[in-house]
Amino acid sequence: MAEGVCVITEFRDGAFRRVSFEIASEGRRLADELGGPLLAIALGDGVTEVAPDLGGYGVEKVYVVDDPLLKDYRAETYVPIAAEMLESIEPKVVLSAGSVDGKDLSARLAARLEAGLATDCTELKIEGGALAAKRPMYAGKALAWCSWSEGAWPQMATCRPNVMDCLPPDTAKKAEIEKTNVALPGSNLTLVVKTEKEVGGKLDLTEAETIVSGGRGMKGPENFAMLEELATLLGGTVGASRSAVDSGWRPHADQVGQTGKVVTPTLYIAVGISGAIQHLAGMSSSKYIVAVNKDPEAPIFSKTDYGVVDDLFRFLPVFIEEVKTLKSTC
Ligand SMILES: Cc1cc2nc3c(=O)[nH]c(=O)nc-3n(C[C@H](O)[C@H](O)[C@H](O)COP(=O)(O)OP(=O)(O)OC[C@H]3O[C@@H](n4cnc5c(N)ncnc54)[C@H](O)[C@@H]3O)c2cc1C
Repeated sequence: MAEGVCVITEFRDGAFRRVSFEIASEGRRLADELGGPLLAIALGDGVTEVAPDLGGYGVEKVYVVDDPLLKDYRAETYVPIAAEMLESIEPKVVLSAGSVDGKDLSARLAARLEAGLATDCTELKIEGGALAAKRPMYAGKALAWCSWSEGAWPQMATCRPNVMDCLPPDTAKKAEIEKTNVALPGSNLTLVVKTEKEVGGKLDLTEAETIVSGGRGMKGPENFAMLEELATLLGGTVGASRSAVDSGWRPHADQVGQTGKVVTPTLYIAVGISGAIQHLAGMSSSKYIVAVNKDPEAPIFSKTDYGVVDDLFRFLPVFIEEVKTLKSTC
């Protein structure tokens, strides 16, 4: 009989990604409302060592498969294993990360398990004994509540990173570990030839607390050095509009928007970005939005908490110096 909530964690480079703790915290809240256990699935190479730490976020039991073949996310390995585990665990609700890998995995799992899936959710609740999920539609123009019928288990959702509250971890609490033996497909696997990391360990945009993004108004790639400097001072990272990416000024990994990344930082600073609907789709749920634009009619100002109408080349150097002074006196 189906019971409880199961979260599918993301383990990369020896650690869980922060979004795993966010979905575990959210899962704990939902499991308490549903009246069942909070379980987790942890797949990876070397994941056994850190899996008990999920207990700090309220996870009671972690089903672990630890194998070098699971070092990188591959649908051929992750999907059959996770599907088999979910079929045997039988949770009522399954949460996974709204990351690139999480979206790929959960869509495939939902098809296998014939389950309803709501992606990119920003709020979850239990209503009438079943899951209800809030998610953006039409490139963020509308927010819709999706619901499932009670009894149609499992009910699956991916959660937008940086949105769900993360519990302060109780480091004294450890989750029970159950190592699962599964037959991994040994041949005909996609071969990961090379993984390239951003130089300087750049923060992943979807996990950054502060993003300073530049658009066509930056006039050229060399001027992004100002945004890099500001982002570093604020402990954040640099993003870009599609125009800046299409012009070859920034890599595609930096693109924020409908065809780029959906980000939810605490602070989003848009510099020389007009605020086209496709850009807004990727950043409008940021907590605080600041824009610098010389055009007072730029659509970005309809979304900002603070707007600066000025030439960015005049404003930014002064602003950067102010931030430096403030930082040196704090
Ligand atoms: C299917 C589709 C998908 C898309 N996906 C995305 C997406 O994922 N992300 C995305 O960003 N876009 C996306 N776009 C493109 C989008 O429609 C816009 O064209 C793009 O966002 C515009 O980028 P921008 O704001 O940098 O450039 P512009 O619209 O050209 O705006 C530049 C801004 O800089 C200001 N400016 C210029 N000089 C200065 C200065 N010296 N000081 C201050 N301000 C200055 C101008 O006033 C202007 O507002 C998509 C489009 C389509 C059709």
